[in-house]
Amino acid sequence: MTELKLKNLKSWFQCIQKCEGKHDLNEIIYSCPKCGNLLEVRHDIEKLKTIPTEKWKKLFDDRYMSSVWPYGSSVWGKKEIVCPNVENDNVVSAYEGGSNLFWAERLGKGLGMDELWIKQCGFNHTGSFKDLGMTVLVSMVKQMISEGKNIIAVACASTGDTSAALAAYCAAAGIQAIVFLPKNKVSTAQLIQPLANNALTLSLDTDFDGCMKIVQEVCSKNSIYLANSMNSLRIEGQKTISIEMAQQFQWEVPDVVILPGGNLGNVTAIGKGFSLAKELGLIDKLPKIVCAQAEQANPLYQSYLTGFKEFHPIKAGKTLASAIQIGNPVSVNKAIKTLKKFNGIVEQASEDELTNAAAKADKTGLFCCPHTGVALAALFKLMKKGEISKKDRVVVISTANGLKFTDFKTNYHTKSLTGVESKYANQPVELAPKYDEVLDTILKKVEQTKN
Ligand SMILES: *Cc1c(COP(=O)(O)O)cnc(C)c1O
Ligand SMILES: [Zn+2]
Repeated sequence: MTELKLKNLKSWFQCIQKCEGKHDLNEIIYSCPKCGNLLEVRHDIEKLKTIPTEKWKKLFDDRYMSSVWPYGSSVWGKKEIVCPNVENDNVVSAYEGGSNLFWAERLGKGLGMDELWIKQCGFNHTGSFKDLGMTVLVSMVKQMISEGKNIIAVACASTGDTSAALAAYCAAAGIQAIVFLPKNKVSTAQLIQPLANNALTLSLDTDFDGCMKIVQEVCSKNSIYLANSMNSLRIEGQKTISIEMAQQFQWEVPDVVILPGGNLGNVTAIGKGFSLAKELGLIDKLPKIVCAQAEQANPLYQSYLTGFKEFHPIKAGKTLASAIQIGNPVSVNKAIKTLKKFNGIVEQASEDELTNAAAKADKTGLFCCPHTGVALAALFKLMKKGEISKKDRVVVISTANGLKFTDFKTNYHTKSLTGVESKYANQPVELAPKYDEVLDTILKKVEQTKN
């Protein structure tokens, strides 16, 4: 395996604005002590740039999905540019990343597109991209505990997937997780995941934004570490999605990347990954980034309509895309900065559009979660408007596994969603066990599918 000569490589927290102070990654700090803005993880770019591009490529390719701990994880395979501060013994990993880049040939052809790809981030340990960030955060916590820091638990507020990831990684490390969930607003699968992983699961009679407020107070006054996406360690892991995609395209860059956005950490992460890859010479251009929001929770879309001149938090309405039902996104400033740099577009999708987009894609072999439905609906709309061209190589980031959202699918196919016309509903056909009736039904279906 390729070796690197990078001695004492260290990354640090620094304010996203102009403030100068550096803070160690093992400091319990989430915002700039001078101006209150969010922090981001910075890397020693000058030192990283001393390694030739070809050497980085070889290193990442050698490690990709290998069995050498912890580098077979696609996050830790890029450890030097993600979080070099954690010792390998303290890494808490479930082999994240390395997820399939699905060539959506039939779906793309139906839209007249040359190349449509779906990045299957739902094929991670707990079924969403949140694992990519959580492995970094929980590893850093384990590192801090090993250095004698007093941390009694790790907590997060969540619309579902963050708590599942936090609970699993904490359970693997033997650290207590505490998750704050809005009562009756997450799917059954999303609720059972933290319970199964022994997280203290607090179901609060409020929405996500309400949970967020309480968890911040609890963490700031106690030795409990905050795992929400204001904690920028998670962004570092998630940014490997971009680098991994480039790697899967033999270090080429897609023209357009579309993803659903709620708290807007992931949009920031995707941008950060591409920016760093370009700085290191791994790629030679940047893609356009499209952030897709549910119409019911669209504060960024509204801001986009003003050219990002204004931003107003809103009270999010109910959406089937529950993981992005967020009216006051923590990472909005970072996300806007990212979208400006990446020639960004923000699009929105109604409940009818997101459900039918997911179902249309399912008909071509996928099994999309509602958030992936939002991203696909945005693709369909932008194709129609001519803002994405048929020649573009497009990647849609599928953020979670559809199997976490079986209620959503069941209700769609039984046509029991209000405000949704289930265009692609498919129902079991109840028949007597008679050959003629069965054959007749088969032939009818074959004919229908042909047309
Ligand atoms: C968290 C999540 C999102 C939104 O990501 P943000 O970083 O909050 O914008 C989208 N889809 C799924 C499935 C998620 O779990
Ligand atoms: Zn500052």
